[in-house]
Amino acid sequence: MNLELSEEQSAVRQLARDFVEREITPHVVAWDRAEEVDRAIVEKLGEVGFLGLTIDEEYGGSGGDHLAYCLVTEELGRGDSSVRGIVSVSLGLVAKTVAAWGSEEQKRRWLPGLTSGASVGCFGLTEPGTGSDAGSLTTRAVRDGDDYVINGTKMFITNGTWADVVLLFARSTGAPGHKGVSAFLVPADTPGLTRRTIHGKLGLRGQATAELALEDVRVPAAALLGEEGKGFSIAMSALAKGRMSVAAGCVGIAQAALDVAVRYAGEREQFGRTIAHHQLVQELLSDIALDVDAARLLTWRVADLIDRGQPFAVESSKAKLFASEAAVRAANNALQVFGGYGYIDEYPAGKLLRDARVMTLYEGTSQIQKLVIGRALTGVSAF
Ligand code: FAD
Repeated sequence: MNLELSEEQSAVRQLARDFVEREITPHVVAWDRAEEVDRAIVEKLGEVGFLGLTIDEEYGGSGGDHLAYCLVTEELGRGDSSVRGIVSVSLGLVAKTVAAWGSEEQKRRWLPGLTSGASVGCFGLTEPGTGSDAGSLTTRAVRDGDDYVINGTKMFITNGTWADVVLLFARSTGAPGHKGVSAFLVPADTPGLTRRTIHGKLGLRGQATAELALEDVRVPAAALLGEEGKGFSIAMSALAKGRMSVAAGCVGIAQAALDVAVRYAGEREQFGRTIAHHQLVQELLSDIALDVDAARLLTWRVADLIDRGQPFAVESSKAKLFASEAAVRAANNALQVFGGYGYIDEYPAGKLLRDARVMTLYEGTSQIQKLVIGRALTGVSAF
């Protein structure tokens, strides 16, 4: 694996850094306090090509490889995880899945909007009663002539209130495949689909997270993504790549934690010198730095495997597991460096910690990643 970035990769990272500094950093505290990112950011992300990375230009994408995608995701995560999550879901979980599994008609219908930022996608897998055991989902799609009629509830859906299209997973009657789950592309304005914003989140407060209720939602059979019954495989393959994106976002959080902690340690004076002079403060900084490097290398390895067409799912679980736990540790260590100032939101460490915490929960909790890794090591499924 080549750890040198190509000229193109370096350029895209610089573009992302400049974008974050210009469009995100000035607003981060206000968006967090208001519990809402300015939606105009979506079109700006589209304009600069960040919603089309790895998608063919033919469908409005901006091309690029998965390492470039990781670099952009890291920079966005360094700026604001709420914004990073918009991209990880609308591009990472929805557009990339449509590109991989969609019919020509579905790609032409959905990808240009998703990649330009004219529309937003969300990924509807989790339900109130089924989280880690996603295969037990109970949302039902019943065939009725040329349509499916869908009933059920989806919980904790990132971009849920903003979305124009829901990549929805439902148990379809008569589906022959694994667990009988099928994937559907459901326009969010379809009658019978209602959404409720979930407020009071510990972190990612700027993000539009919603509960979706589907009552007799009627979609044509052409809304089926991939074959009937292939939905669980589609969800799992989307999440395998999605975990790399979460891991890259976590590297961004850890890097931000390092940046702010080193700077503060060089400014704050106690006992007659800057706290950078105290060995135990250096220990905190050194621990953060180690977490940043290790998380980044694990994440880049996944990108490298994907770009070379190699199996990557277990490595993606390892990267997500390590990077998410590392981001929590790094943000917590940074908060410690800030002392009492770390505890108030005029300083950045507290938000980094709040935003990091969910990374160990979604797209498979840390326990679930360990079971994926354990199954690969032993051949035994311990779920
Ligand atoms: P549970 O599955 O009930 O787990 C509870 C605890 O039990 C956890 O500690 C878990 O690790 C443990 N556990 C469960 N089973 C096992 C086992 N077999 N062995 C050991 N331990 C186990 N979902 C979507 O579909 N789309 C989204 O866009 C989305 N965005 C989200 C955004 C946010 C802010 C949040 C909080 C969640 C989001 N989710 C989304 C849902 C998320 O993926 C689930 O919350 C997650 O998968 C865990 O499910 P759960 O919350 O039901 O916890």
